[in-house]
Amino acid sequence: MKVTEHIKNANGKTLFSFEILPPLKGQHIDSIFNNIDPLMEFKPPFIDVTYHREEYTYKELENGLLKKQVVKKRPGTVGICAAIQNKYQVDAIPHILCGGFSKEDTENFLIDLDFLDIDNVMALRGDAVSSETYFRPEKDGHHYASELVNQIQNLNQGKYLDEELQNSSNTNFCIGVAGYPEKHMEAPSIDSDIHFLKKKIKNGATYIVTQMFFDNEKFFQFVDKCRKEGITVPIIPGLKPLATKKQLNLIPHRFKVDLPDDLIMSVVKCKDNKEVRQIGVEWCVNQSKELIKRGVPLVHYYSMGKSDNIYEIAKQIF
Ligand code: FAD
Repeated sequence: MKVTEHIKNANGKTLFSFEILPPLKGQHIDSIFNNIDPLMEFKPPFIDVTYHREEYTYKELENGLLKKQVVKKRPGTVGICAAIQNKYQVDAIPHILCGGFSKEDTENFLIDLDFLDIDNVMALRGDAVSSETYFRPEKDGHHYASELVNQIQNLNQGKYLDEELQNSSNTNFCIGVAGYPEKHMEAPSIDSDIHFLKKKIKNGATYIVTQMFFDNEKFFQFVDKCRKEGITVPIIPGLKPLATKKQLNLIPHRFKVDLPDDLIMSVVKCKDNKEVRQIGVEWCVNQSKELIKRGVPLVHYYSMGKSDNIYEIAKQIF
């Protein structure tokens, strides 16, 4: 079922969902199932599975020269989605990127999803590869998520890249896109970012999931701005509980989001990461409660592959 249908069928009740990462190459899929199993108690209508593009690494050879290697450290997004739908009978949402995909690769990826009865996709641009500063699309790939949304929407209307295909069938994807309450790191302003977010909706996306945030006011202001710009689709808040002291620097650096001073001070005072984890859970529970009070359709949690703290939060909320 589509995300938008799940929201509609909930009749105003706030739903619970979460995102997982495919395991590192070499690990068994049970490592994923072990994290999902306890969370099924809270009846998620869907589970998101991230996509990880290739990375470039350099291996030093005996003669001192460097050999460039292309590695995908977390393959398996589509396989995991199919396995989740099969094992738990809940919708799995694969993330799909512009980065690393030509339009032809995208079309073939979408055909696989359609054959597997996957109804939803999260359409993203992806970041620059780690060895580069700026995002570079594939030759014949998409520059922005809005273009990717356009291609998916074309397929929903039976328009394939080869316009001469006869009797081509329509896909029926519900398309989600990313939104940034504290603006995307490359956007020159929040207004500019929302302008391009609107383009993703115009091209066919029907819901938005936000980047993590730790101050609900930023989310409420973002939603207000989106509504003023005429964006009417559901906006789903994404939350992540802090779990280690290191994340105080890592999260702002990696995701370009601010942490509130109260949270920082509480974490700084912690003796160890066990205490940080508890602070992170409490902060996230309070954020969730306030968001639910304000009527968000769903709270989406970034599990980063570990479900124990998400379980503790969900137990107090759902
Ligand atoms: P876009 O919507 O294309 O925007 C990128 C930037 O370009 C923004 O600054 C925007 O304002 C600007 N822009 C857009 N259109 C135009 C235009 N026409 N002209 C000029 N500027 C424009 N990454 C992964 O690798 N794998 C994942 O699974 C993954 N999942 C994610 C899930 C969520 C909910 C979120 C919030 C992010 C996720 N990301 C993931 C990270 C995401 O790929 C990065 O944040 C990426 O840098 C931007 O992706 P986007 O889809 O928001 O890009």
